[in-house]
Amino acid sequence: MPGVPAHAIDPVSGVVTEKQWQQTVLDAAQLLGWWTYHTYDSRRSTPGFPDLVLIRPPRVLFLELKRETGRLTVAQREVLGLLDGCPGVETHVARPSDWPQVVEWLS
Ligand SMILES: [Mg+2]
Repeated sequence: MPGVPAHAIDPVSGVVTEKQWQQTVLDAAQLLGWWTYHTYDSRRSTPGFPDLVLIRPPRVLFLELKRETGRLTVAQREVLGLLDGCPGVETHVARPSDWPQVVEWLS
């Protein structure tokens, strides 16, 4: 996976797992001064809410994280669509291959 930090790649499978990808993005966000929110157990939460909410005034960023081959659910598409209609809110779907772009979003 070009560009992704080596520690994000599972040494056994050679792929970036969702958990490792999320931790990589969270670490980068925190280093760059973002307040970060993640629902640790979503089982009783409304489906579709993005994985990460990042706040660094004046910006609010919602990120839906996916493995390289992961697909959005219908609920995730719906929520991202609603957020896209909110001026000033930034929403992105981020996969490991988007890493350079993610760094730009967080900068
Ligand atoms: Mg996700």
